[in-house]
Amino acid sequence: MAVGCVIELAARVASRELKNGFAVVRPPGHHAEESTAMGFCFFNSIAITAKYLRDKLNIGKILIVDLDVHHGNGTQQAFYADPSILYVSLHRYDEGNFFPGSGAPNEVGSGPGEGYNINIAWTGGLDPPMGDVEYLTAFRTVIMPAANEFDPEIVLVSAGFDAVEGHDPPLGGYKVTAKCFGHLTKQLLKLADGRVVLALEGGHDLTAICDASEACINALLGNELEPLPEDIVHQIPNMNAIASLKKTTEIQSKYWKSVEPYSVPVDCALAESQKQEREETETVSAMASLSVDVEQCIPQEGSRPIRFWMLNKGLSTLCVMPEDIPVSHKWLEKVEVCGQHNSDTPLV
Ligand SMILES: [Zn+2]
Repeated sequence: MAVGCVIELAARVASRELKNGFAVVRPPGHHAEESTAMGFCFFNSIAITAKYLRDKLNIGKILIVDLDVHHGNGTQQAFYADPSILYVSLHRYDEGNFFPGSGAPNEVGSGPGEGYNINIAWTGGLDPPMGDVEYLTAFRTVIMPAANEFDPEIVLVSAGFDAVEGHDPPLGGYKVTAKCFGHLTKQLLKLADGRVVLALEGGHDLTAICDASEACINALLGNELEPLPEDIVHQIPNMNAIASLKKTTEIQSKYWKSVEPYSVPVDCALAESQKQEREETETVSAMASLSVDVEQCIPQEGSRPIRFWMLNKGLSTLCVMPEDIPVSHKWLEKVEVCGQHNSDTPLV
């Protein structure tokens, strides 16, 4: 059912029926390979969805961004020789010593797909752990430049939240804040005319998952995000992150002219990019207020409540939720329940 939820959501976003969306699904999928279940994953929801979009809906260019702290070995494998799908993963690698062990920076794709696989492979363990500065810098120096150059028609996000603070070292141990994930999502919304679909992947700390989900949904809804703290904006990445970024940018600059070999910024580049973001926010808010389409649905008794529609300023976001996700957390209070799905009816 998880795969079906992600496919249905992505198809609706691709057809512009919805602007964007977040599929809150279990189990995760990005470790599942073609014929091998692995790492709690049985079917690779994002990979199957990407193939559906490409083969059934004729979408020519799809960007997959994998934010889970583990490398998405299954997704990489599925599209390793495929130039129509750019796979970008940001993960803890530690020279192959962190699960699943794949995701080296020199794994760049093969044949016609060479250059369409980007691994930002953090090394150096937890000394110190990666955090907001490192993730924002990776977005600024590698992910957004390559993504803009690729110019995708839709963006699929493997939204794993196990890099969020609150996970023990064996499960990640990084210190990325939940609100940082909102800012990363906001950056991705600048691509593909805002057609961005998130699907939940890993995450083992319920508070971290809920807080990061809330931050991402706020970004999808176009709400104003809590600004990042000043010290984050003025910090440069730690030395291990700099080494990792240098390696990736040196390799990927052969394939992407907008990705330049990384050098530590002498000016405050993050602060400058925030200023640009503030200016763009005013334009986005003005655009959002132009849309007035609001759906009216009445929940029916006896059907299983697994689909929620969120409406805000004309931005509609589909959130698909199986029963095993707790519904009591605060971010669900923002969800206006106006539709239900009968469990006997297949989603796709
Ligand atoms: Zn994970």
